[in-house]
Amino acid sequence: MTTPLNDFLSFSLEHYTNWHEISGNIGTSIRYNSDVPGVLTFMPNNTPSAHTKQIILSCGVHGNETAPIEICNALIKQIYNQEIDCKHKVMFIFGNLPAMKIAKRFVDENLNRLFDPNAENSCSHQQIDEAYSIEKVRAEELMQQVACFFTDAEGDRIHYDLHTAIRPSKNEKFAVYPYLHGKTYCKEQLQFMSDCGVNTILLSQSPTTTFSYFSSRKYGAHSFTVELGKVYPFGKNDMSKFTDMNLMLKQLIGMYEFSTSCFEDCPLEVFTVNQVINKTKDDFTLHFDDDLANFSSFQRGQLLASEQGKEFRAEYEDEAIVFPNANVALGQRALLTVVPYAL
Ligand SMILES: [Zn+2]
Repeated sequence: MTTPLNDFLSFSLEHYTNWHEISGNIGTSIRYNSDVPGVLTFMPNNTPSAHTKQIILSCGVHGNETAPIEICNALIKQIYNQEIDCKHKVMFIFGNLPAMKIAKRFVDENLNRLFDPNAENSCSHQQIDEAYSIEKVRAEELMQQVACFFTDAEGDRIHYDLHTAIRPSKNEKFAVYPYLHGKTYCKEQLQFMSDCGVNTILLSQSPTTTFSYFSSRKYGAHSFTVELGKVYPFGKNDMSKFTDMNLMLKQLIGMYEFSTSCFEDCPLEVFTVNQVINKTKDDFTLHFDDDLANFSSFQRGQLLASEQGKEFRAEYEDEAIVFPNANVALGQRALLTVVPYAL
C-alpha cells in the first residue's frame, strides 16, 4: 500500500466510511496521527514554548471548494517527504468528505453554521447522536478534535479556515475576521494575510457559528475564514494564483520566526459588516444580477433585496454586498453588506 500521507486527500475520500487510526514517525523528530477521517496532526518532538505555535489549517468545510483542499494536500505531502521541516504542532482538516465526493457544497446542511462555541464539547470520544445530519455529526467530531488539539498553554493558537467563494469577487482574496468581542485586532496577523495576497479584510461584528468564530471565541485562536477566489472543480484551479499563500504557509509551518511586510506598507482594504440580512420568507429576492461580484457597491437608498413585507436598502454610500445567496434555508443569512473601515 502506498503511504496515505503522499495523497492524504485521496486516501481520506476512499476510506472515510471505514477509518482506522494512522500514526507513525517522520525521521526522528516528528510524529503524525489521524484517528478520525480527513484529520491529520503533525507533532514535532520539541517542547512547547512561546516560540512554538499550534496551527490548524482547515479546508473543504464546503465540499466543492477545491483549491484550498489541493493546497493542504500538497503541504501534507511536503511535510511527509521532509521538504518542509515542521516546527510546530499542525492539524490539517478536510472538512466535509462526503460532500467532496459528490462535488457539492454540502450533503444535508451547511457545515459552516454548526460550530457553536457555547455548546458542551471536550477532548473525549463522546457518543454522537446518529439521528443528526451528516454535517452535524461531522461538526461534533471536528469540535472534539479541536478541543484535543489546542492543549498547550504556551504559544500562539492559529486557525485558518480556507474557502473559495461561489461567485467572482472584485477583491479576489479576502478574509473574514471573526467578531472579537472588543479584543484588539492583531496587526501581525493582518500583515501575514496581506503577504499571502489576502488584502481585503472583513470585520465581523456579531457572534456566529462558523468554524473560525468557534476557534477564536472558545480557544482564543487567531482565526480567519479565508476566501481564496472562485470555486472550480478538482484539477481545474490555476495554482499559480496561490503562490504567495503557499509560500507563507510553508514559512508558518517550517520556521520559528519569519518576517512579514510592515503594517503601514500592506495594501489592505478593511471593511466592517453593516447589515446581516436573513431570509425569513420563501419569496426572498435579490435585486441584482445572479453573478454580480462580491464587493460590488451600491448607492445609499438602492434596493438590495426584498421579501414579503420587507425591503432591504443600502444605508450608506458605497455600501457593498458580500456572500449573496437567495437559496439558503429560511432563517439563514442570505446577504451581508459591508462599508469601508479605518483600523
Ligand atoms: Zn466556503
